Amino acid sequence: MDKGVLVLKKLIWRALIALLAVHYVFVASLKPVLSWLSLVLFFAAVVVIFFHWRKEKALGSGVAVRRLRAGAIILLLVLCNVLVELYAHENLVRGRTALVGATIITGELDAADIRDGTVLISDDGKIVALGQKESLAVPQGYDVVDVSGKFIMPGLINAHAHMWMEGGDPQKPVDFSSYAAPRIVRKLGMSAIMSYPGLRVVASRMERNVQSALYGGVTTLRGVGDLDFLDVQLRDQVARGERVGPNLLAAGKIIAITGGHAAEMGRVVDGPVEARKAVREGIHERIDHIKICATGGVADSLRIGEAGELQMTPEEMRAVVDEAHRRNILVTAHAESAAGVKEALVAGVDNIEHGAIFDDEAADLFLNNPNSLRGYTSLHPTLSTLAGGLIINDETENHPVISVMNHNAAMLKEQFYGGFEKALAHGILVGVGTDSGVVAHNKVWVELKLFVEHGGVSPARAIHMGTLATARSIGVQDVTGSIEVGKRADLLVLARDPRDDLSLISNAERIIVNGYHHMPRE
Ligand SMILES: [Zn+2]
Repeated sequence: MDKGVLVLKKLIWRALIALLAVHYVFVASLKPVLSWLSLVLFFAAVVVIFFHWRKEKALGSGVAVRRLRAGAIILLLVLCNVLVELYAHENLVRGRTALVGATIITGELDAADIRDGTVLISDDGKIVALGQKESLAVPQGYDVVDVSGKFIMPGLINAHAHMWMEGGDPQKPVDFSSYAAPRIVRKLGMSAIMSYPGLRVVASRMERNVQSALYGGVTTLRGVGDLDFLDVQLRDQVARGERVGPNLLAAGKIIAITGGHAAEMGRVVDGPVEARKAVREGIHERIDHIKICATGGVADSLRIGEAGELQMTPEEMRAVVDEAHRRNILVTAHAESAAGVKEALVAGVDNIEHGAIFDDEAADLFLNNPNSLRGYTSLHPTLSTLAGGLIINDETENHPVISVMNHNAAMLKEQFYGGFEKALAHGILVGVGTDSGVVAHNKVWVELKLFVEHGGVSPARAIHMGTLATARSIGVQDVTGSIEVGKRADLLVLARDPRDDLSLISNAERIIVNGYHHMPRE
């Protein structure tokens, strides 16, 4: 054989071996759980490679033997890679459980507590019986958990999350400095994230973020814009009990316009045909709902006023809504001005994210929206995003990027809070969505506190809003959101009454999701 071809073949073999080894180290370093077998095999492969190449140099053994050895090394490394994927999950278990003796807050508005209550949970994670201890005997075969003196409430639902980002404390001022990098650096950073290794890192961060949400008392987390449909993948892994996390709902990529808000991370469309196509693509990727950007936003604004400016056209929004509703899928719209809210409502979106101070005509459309899937539209005011105020000083005011973002954010804060108050006054369905990812995933209780402070609602009603009302808003009220026979066991066991201190919700002793028990403090 030609010597050049031989050298080329050798190079290809070596490149393949090197690639597999690097991939193993890279993937293994991201995994929370690693099997011993994969580690042992990997080191065996490294030893074989070392001696193989040393011997080859010394003796120059026959082509057939060399091929056999190289093949064996590749096989070993492939096996390592498969094993690391196979064993890197939690194998959560669930079984028949009886929680006995707690005060049960059902999540229904104005419902009386069940005192000294018992909840029976089946081995497929459903609530099968509920009642007072003395009238509800625990059948045989149930693990009894004594929760006397404690409180049980439905797990929180967060309707607005970006699982791929981490977010800061919503009670602290928003720091826009991370957005202040030069445009070229931001673009390079985004391409690095969207590359194969970048997305692997993002996927592992997403696992950490949704776990943080769970430990903050969230049992259902609705993503409204993540990268490359990684949210769909994680949703399925959590549902199979292979990952620790709340029940997830996935939007996949945000649908945005060229140069518009979230265009960098989303699916860019221009015109109704492309808009409809993007919905079809999302449905093909098995998303749960559609997210669009009706207006600009803060995080990528370059001019003062850009945040609420109209972006997607009414025709584009109509195409999205029509296609999604044909498939029984809800559409939610990022809308941060009165005009944007109105256009999105007219198009028939089912939820408004953020919102603005809208007029009475818009209020009527919220309550009775003929183009929406269910006849009404709800609001997720995301008060948490700007609750902690902004960092305003000489440095931020003189910075060309940060000053713009600060001005836009200040303008929006007024709109979000004003829209929230108006929605409550009109009896519009208001749900909890914190924009977690922008703010921390485990601080959803802060949104409830803001509802109490700015909406004048009682803590009990705020809990209802963060559970059953949000379930209705996102269309999962038949499966979760309250403690009710037939629904999923998505609930929190708390040491004290959360109505006395809403922050207790993020300190649950036991979090049950779909029947899987999680004990954050252990
Ligand atoms: Zn958002």
